[in-house]
Amino acid sequence: MKSIGAKLHDKPFPGCRHQEMGSDDYWRCYARHLVSSIYHPVGTCKMAPDSDPMGVVDNKLRVKGVTNLRVADASIMPLVTSGNTNAPSIMIGERAADFIKEDHL
Ligand SMILES: Cc1cc2nc3c(=O)[nH]c(=O)nc-3n(C[C@H](O)[C@H](O)[C@H](O)COP(=O)(O)OP(=O)(O)OC[C@H]3O[C@@H](n4cnc5c(N)ncnc54)[C@H](O)[C@@H]3O)c2cc1C
Repeated sequence: MKSIGAKLHDKPFPGCRHQEMGSDDYWRCYARHLVSSIYHPVGTCKMAPDSDPMGVVDNKLRVKGVTNLRVADASIMPLVTSGNTNAPSIMIGERAADFIKEDHL
């Protein structure tokens, strides 16, 4: 980075101008304003065995206690994957298609 003359942006972040630029308090303020999850939400309808009271779908993606309803998206992941979520989401959709075909063909 030195060889191309790169340097840290020297304009203070607008919400943190009250702190000395580069100080610990400045970076603390900066992190509070800018930290984000990068939007990979999962797990709001997690797949789990019946022994887990927080489980929403079974291992065929069927919503427990409701007939004719499946969930096939990232919400069924019990925990966020360690890699990106897009390919696992597509895989969940493919598995859902297989389960539906099994039941109706
Ligand atoms: C900015 C950003 C960058 C990302 N980058 C990557 C990446 O580089 N690599 C990667 O692997 N993953 C990435 N992801 C994550 C990936 O896109 C998601 O994990 C994946 O798309 C989740 O799939 P999903 O089917 O659960 O939800 P979504 O893809 O959000 O699909 C939900 C669908 O439901 C529809 N919908 C919502 N409400 C209703 C309703 N009431 N009735 C009918 N339809 C409805 C929506 O219109 C949408 O089409 C990124 C996500 C974001 C936001």
